[in-house]
Amino acid sequence: MQQRLATVPFGRHNAGTMQSPLISRPNLLRRIPMPLLAILVGLFCGLFVWLVLEQVQPRALKSIFADELKVRLEQQARETLIRYNNYVTAHTSTIRLLANHRKLSQYLEPVHWLESDREVPFVYYNTPPWLPNTALWRTLIQPSHILLIDKQGRTREIYQVGKRNLPSELAGINELFSSENRVQALLTTLGDEPYLLVSETAEDATGTVMGLLMMMAPIDEQFLTSSQQGVALDDVVVGLLDADEQRFLSSSDYKRLPPGVLMEKVEHDYQVTDQSFFEYEGSTINIQFATLVPNTVMEVIRGRVAGLERRQRIITATAFVTIFTLVFYLLSERLNRILRRISLFSRRALGEAQPIIEQGNQLFVLEDWIKQFIRLVRDARDEMRQQHEFEMQESEALKRTIMEAALDSIVTIDETGRIIEFNNTAAQTLGHDRDEVIGESFAELMLDVKNQPVFRNMLNSFLENPGDQKEEVQHEMWAVTREGNQLPVEIAIKPIQLQTRVVFTVYMHDMSNRRRAEQVIRSLAKFPSESPSPVLRVNQPGVIIYANAASAPLLEYWGCEQGQTLPLYWKKRISDVFLSGKDWESQLVSDDRIYSLLITPVVDLGYVNIYGRDITAVRQAEHQAREHQQELIHVCRLSTMGEMATGLAHELNQPLSAIANYANGCVRRLQLSGNGGDDILHALGQINSQADRAGEIIKRLRSLIGKQPPIRSVADINQLVKEVCSFVEFQARKANVVIEQELSLVLLKARVDVVQIEQVLLNLVRNALDALLEIQEDERSLIIRTSCQAGGYILIEVLDSGPGIQDEAMGRLFEPFYTTKQSGMGMGLVISQTIIEDHNGKISAERLEEGGTRFSIMIPSGEERDG
Ligand code: ADP
Repeated sequence: MQQRLATVPFGRHNAGTMQSPLISRPNLLRRIPMPLLAILVGLFCGLFVWLVLEQVQPRALKSIFADELKVRLEQQARETLIRYNNYVTAHTSTIRLLANHRKLSQYLEPVHWLESDREVPFVYYNTPPWLPNTALWRTLIQPSHILLIDKQGRTREIYQVGKRNLPSELAGINELFSSENRVQALLTTLGDEPYLLVSETAEDATGTVMGLLMMMAPIDEQFLTSSQQGVALDDVVVGLLDADEQRFLSSSDYKRLPPGVLMEKVEHDYQVTDQSFFEYEGSTINIQFATLVPNTVMEVIRGRVAGLERRQRIITATAFVTIFTLVFYLLSERLNRILRRISLFSRRALGEAQPIIEQGNQLFVLEDWIKQFIRLVRDARDEMRQQHEFEMQESEALKRTIMEAALDSIVTIDETGRIIEFNNTAAQTLGHDRDEVIGESFAELMLDVKNQPVFRNMLNSFLENPGDQKEEVQHEMWAVTREGNQLPVEIAIKPIQLQTRVVFTVYMHDMSNRRRAEQVIRSLAKFPSESPSPVLRVNQPGVIIYANAASAPLLEYWGCEQGQTLPLYWKKRISDVFLSGKDWESQLVSDDRIYSLLITPVVDLGYVNIYGRDITAVRQAEHQAREHQQELIHVCRLSTMGEMATGLAHELNQPLSAIANYANGCVRRLQLSGNGGDDILHALGQINSQADRAGEIIKRLRSLIGKQPPIRSVADINQLVKEVCSFVEFQARKANVVIEQELSLVLLKARVDVVQIEQVLLNLVRNALDALLEIQEDERSLIIRTSCQAGGYILIEVLDSGPGIQDEAMGRLFEPFYTTKQSGMGMGLVISQTIIEDHNGKISAERLEEGGTRFSIMIPSGEERDG
């Protein structure tokens, strides 16, 4: 099971089916790497926050700005009013100074204003004598008129400062000042114009109250501008307002706010703050002091503040987004790297090649890995469970199969020896049916009576000594089949400890086959001793370990017995065989018998087996065969000679006729005269040589015809060829053929039977001549060639230009009695082959391409053989 699991790569399991859902999920988000995602999210958040702020901030700012503005406006209004009051106070103080000035008191000293005097007041256009002529007070105040009024309130003298005439409505005012509760300063309208009236008691030098010094100042554009004491009034306009009519009486800027304009008309363009005067209680009308700030100015300020705020906001937001995004980027980059490393690790751990995307958001990649991992674990768990169940079933089946397939009989018994289960082999071997034997006593049913107590003892010893229960005990016993036949069996009992009890498995091995095999082995062991041929075993030092009865002649020859060492020569041979490790065959010739000995080394076990064979009969048969062969060769030679007899007779005829002629010549010369001894001597010499020649021919003929034992001697092959050629000279001449001898310049020596080799060559040359007879005379050619060949061989070739050998004849050339000639015997080539093979050579025939036949003989050269 473990092996099976190990061979299924964990990560690759079902990879094909699992990748698809993971990969096919089309999700752009998954493909974006985390750092990029971090940047995008950062930017998006920044933008979102920006948009929210853009909506909220300006509104909040506007409200804050409005509140602030209100406060500021009120502040400013208060300030302008204070400045205005200060300016009025300056007038009051100045008038007080002027009223108490020495010049006025001096002027009034001699003056007596009569009550009845109705004179028109005297008007000065230059500085009157009751006022100091210094410029000091003129810089402080800007009156239109300064009046000197008597105690009755009549205006006695007037100083007109500017060009403006005295307003006609002045009369009522005088009364106001002359009353008991007169006020020192009064704000009123004269005509439509607002005026500031300031008065102070005028006394003469003696301290007598003469009347009043009153100053009139029109509160016009100039007055109001001056009242603000040099403070820039570009963005602010101050004015006096008729509170009842809501109409402006005067302003610091007549262009923007001319007198008489209604409040409602300016409210669109200005922020107006109006305040009541508390100090001028004597005012005849309800006048208010108004401070106006133009809306355009407000807008500019507001715009400036909003712009400033917006810039600040942009800088703050940009800095915030940048830092936030950067931090997020760095964190996610680091996280990304860690996740990628985990992913790579997971990939290696799971052994996945490329089941899921690797790029993109590592968080998703890791999520995929984790899903994948969980799935794999689940699959592996399922597979393991299945595998386990399968293996359990398999194991059960296997156990059953093993039990059923076991060659031995297996019987399971309980502790009382009763059969619980048994296998097929037991049923077949003992011939019982399963149903019959379950519950029966094993020993009584299946064992021989003699063995039953032994078996029970075995069981009891197991039960009494539970410590030995692990051991398996074996005994040879006799089992009994259903038919009552006895079987030799080897019984082994193996106890099996179950949870509650002990059961035993009894293995019964049928030993009849083994007994039979032992018999066969025993009979095999007797096999060499039964052999009619000598069989011996000799160990490496040469001591005879075993020798069968047939080896007696050999032991007698060697002069030793079993257990003794072999003679020195054979001992040496045996150690050679050990060294070579190869079989060695040899012959041993005793007095009357010949043995062939095959010595086979068994190197591993350190001995050799010697298998002897009596080959005396074989050798005798071979000897006879060789004799027959010689006989045959001789007969063939005789036959050849018979055939050549005519030619030979003719050959002999020539020297004999020459001899006769020379002899006759000699006789005649001797009869004719006594001299001519030289001629006679010459003729006699010729007679002698011709007789030698004839003798030579006859001698050679005799050597060929004569029956002689085969004798090997070293011969010059070229010489042999020459002799054969001279032998057939007559026949060749008759056929009008010149035998060309292409003989090797090197001396070719071979150890041969000269007569036999000549016989072979003679046969080949004669066959060639026969073949040449079948063609035109002028086409006939016969070559005998000798040469030295590689490997120490001599090649003799006989080539003729005859008609050649037909295909079907080629295969049969060397068959006995195969001939195409009328008078042929068909034994020439057969004998030739026998002779050449006897010389360890080879003879072969082939058809020449240009027409004709070549016979080749290869024989080992004499040097090689002679060493
Ligand atoms: P024989 O010469 O008595 O026929 P051989 O055994 O010498 O017996 O030859 C067998 C046959 O081989 C010949 O009959 C001939 O047909 C064939 N033969 C042998 N030598 C030649 C040759 N040089 N050219 C053609 N045929 C040949």
